Amino acid sequence: MPELPEVETVRRGLSPAMEGVVIERADVNRPDLRWPFPDQMAERLSGQRVDRLRRRSKYILADLDSGETLLIHLGMSGRMTVSGDPLGQFVHNHPAPEKHDHVVFHMANGARITFNDPRRFGAMDLLPTDTAHEHKLLSVLGPEPLGNDFHEQHLIDAFRSKNTPVKSALLDQRIVAGLGNIYVCEALYRGGVSPRRKAGQISEQRVAALVPIIRQVLEEAIRAGGSSLRDFRQADGELGYFQHSFDVYGREDEPCRTEGCDAKVKRITQSGRSSFYCAQCQR
Ligand SMILES: [Zn+2]
Repeated sequence: MPELPEVETVRRGLSPAMEGVVIERADVNRPDLRWPFPDQMAERLSGQRVDRLRRRSKYILADLDSGETLLIHLGMSGRMTVSGDPLGQFVHNHPAPEKHDHVVFHMANGARITFNDPRRFGAMDLLPTDTAHEHKLLSVLGPEPLGNDFHEQHLIDAFRSKNTPVKSALLDQRIVAGLGNIYVCEALYRGGVSPRRKAGQISEQRVAALVPIIRQVLEEAIRAGGSSLRDFRQADGELGYFQHSFDVYGREDEPCRTEGCDAKVKRITQSGRSSFYCAQCQR
């Protein structure tokens, strides 16, 4: 499931093919993904220039010159591919259409952007740009972890007297937007904080220390995504899935990477999701 760094990588990969470019035609091949598409979506997209491509949490937002914004959510299995870009950034020929190619954007610069989603947990919506932040998916979001509103005092205030495990608190999108299971596990490992510890019981000093750690973990992953974009010529044109090594995530029973620690990474289930951590390093 794509997390914030993967979505940011998709945004950066789409940008040269989409930003400032007119969507000559949009093909919408089914009525819905997770939810029905908005009325007349193909017509409302066709002929519009993408003025700006931005990201909020795990949503990609394309501001159109019509005054509407296209919201794209990749869901669990959504993929975006770019083919035939004339700028020479992407050398992929247009592939033959595939079964789960639900939406295809034919760009005026010759690029083709395909949204493929076998499980259809993804979503697209069109909303007025000036009130986009009021959309039901966006209005509930807390600050961006890489933005200025996510700071030490914010996290201290959000955790104060919170009786839930810190793992759940960091996954709470109202506290910080876009953090998912993988990067919460990694940040807690680096912060030496057990995922089981109650958020309200962690000292302010340790809570404050989590803020730069969270930023660092995400920025490293975004950098890894950036490298994957540079290797794009060899890839198949698919954006956003890249090799990245994790310290604890997915490493159950493997040795802890902290120097001098002889423990093995543990996996427990919290709120139905796996938490990976070192019980010796994380308290
Ligand atoms: Zn350890």
